[in-house]
Amino acid sequence: MQDIRWNTFWVLLFVSFLSLVVWGFKSLEVAFLFFVLCLTVYLLSHVYWIHRLNKWLKNPNLSTIPDGSGIWEEIFSILYREYKKQKKSKSELTTTLGRFMTAAEAIPDGIVALNQNNEIEWCNKPSEKMLGINLSKDINQPINYLLRETSFTEYLNDKKYNDSLRLISWRNTSRSFELFLVPFGASQKLLICRDITQIEKNDSIKRDFIANVSHELKTPLTVIIGFLETLSDMKNEFNEKTYSYLQMMLEQSDRMKKLVEDLLQLSSIESNAAAAEKKEIDMHDLFKRLEKDSDLISGKLHKINMSIKKNIALLGYEKEIYSAFLNLVSNAIRYTEKGGSINVIWDMENQKPYFEVQDSGIGIDEKLIPRLTERFYRINADRSRITGGTGLGLSIVKHICIRHQAQIEITSQVGKGSQFKIIFPQERLSLKK
Ligand code: ADP
Repeated sequence: MQDIRWNTFWVLLFVSFLSLVVWGFKSLEVAFLFFVLCLTVYLLSHVYWIHRLNKWLKNPNLSTIPDGSGIWEEIFSILYREYKKQKKSKSELTTTLGRFMTAAEAIPDGIVALNQNNEIEWCNKPSEKMLGINLSKDINQPINYLLRETSFTEYLNDKKYNDSLRLISWRNTSRSFELFLVPFGASQKLLICRDITQIEKNDSIKRDFIANVSHELKTPLTVIIGFLETLSDMKNEFNEKTYSYLQMMLEQSDRMKKLVEDLLQLSSIESNAAAAEKKEIDMHDLFKRLEKDSDLISGKLHKINMSIKKNIALLGYEKEIYSAFLNLVSNAIRYTEKGGSINVIWDMENQKPYFEVQDSGIGIDEKLIPRLTERFYRINADRSRITGGTGLGLSIVKHICIRHQAQIEITSQVGKGSQFKIIFPQERLSLKK
C-alpha cells in the first residue's frame, strides 16, 4: 500500500516544482495562486472520498462500495476484502448458531440459560412445556419468579452443582422432573430439566414387585419357622445328625425372615417420597431403648458408651429414626471385636443436630465408603452373614436420612475404626426439651 505521507510529500513537491516553473515564466503572485489552487483541488478530492466513505459506512453493502482513485482506490479495496471476510465469517457463525439452536431444540430435556442474576436468557421448546416458560414474555425474568417452589429457590441459592433436585410438576402433579444446574462461562448457568415420570413409574413397579414378593413369602416362612421350632423342641426324637440339619434349616429360615423384613421396610420407606413427619422425639427415651437393644446385640461384650451432650429434641418420625440409629449401632457392634469400644453421641453443631456412632472396629477402606449404602453391598459377605447382616441396613439408613433431609457422613480407617454421622437440618431441631 502507498504511504499517504509519502504520497502527500510527492504531491507537494510536484506542485512546488510546477509553481517554481510558473514563477519563472510569470510572476511570484501567479505562482502562489497556482500553488494554492493545486492544493485546494488536492484537498477537495480527499474531502470527496471521505464523504463517499462516510455515506457507504452508514449503509454498507458490497455492491455499492466506491471504486476510489489514487490512495482511495487501495483503501476501498482493503475495505471490500475485509467486509467480504467479515460477512463470510458472520454467515458461518449464523449457520453454526442455527445448527446449535436446532440441536438444542431436538434435545428432549429442557434447557434454560440463566445469567449471573438467575434471569432467563434463552430456553428451548421442551423447557417451555415442562416448566411453563414463555420465552417471548419471560426473557430477562428471574427464574425463581416463575418456579416458585421453596426447594427450587434453596437449590438455586445453595450452588451445590453436584446435586440434582426432584420436582413435582405444579401444572400436572402426575409428572415429576429432575433439575440440574450446570455452571458455564463467567457466572452463567444452564438449568437442565429431565422428565423422570417414566423412570419413577418403572422404579415403583420394581419396588411394588419386591414388596409383593416379600409379603407373599412372609406367611409361608412364618409357618415353616413355626414347624422347625416345634421340631427342634423335640430334640430326643431325632438322631444328632438330623437334629443338626434341623438347626441349620432354622438358622437359614431366620436369615430369610430377616431379609424379607428388611426388604419390606426398605420398599415401604422408598415408596414414601414425602418428607417425614415432624413430631418431637424424646431423645432420652429413645437412647434408653437403644441402650437396651445394643446390650442384647452385643451380649454386653463391648464397651458401649451412650451420651446425650445437648438437651435437644429431634423433629421426625420416631419409628424410622430409631431403626436408622439402631442399624448404625448394630453395625458398630457387629464389625468391632469383643472388648472394643463404641461411642454413641447425640449433639449439635452449627445449629444442626447430629447422631454419631464411633467404633474401634475393623474399619473400612476409604475407596469403598461411597458404595456402602448400595443395596446388598458388603465388604466381607461372610462376616456380614455370620453376624446376621442382610446387606440392606445402610440402604435403609440412607432412605430414612433422605426422608428427614439429613446427610450421612462416613469416615473410617482400616484396623482403627469407623464413624457414622447423621446430620439433620436446622428445621428438624427442637430446643423445647
Ligand atoms: P450388613 O447387613 O452386611 O451389615 P449394611 O448395609 O448394614 O449391611 O452394611 C454394608 C456393609 O458396610 C457391611 O457389610 C460392612 O462391610 C460395612 N460396614 C457397615 N458398618 C460398618 C462398621 N461400623 N465397620 C466396618 N464396616 C461396616
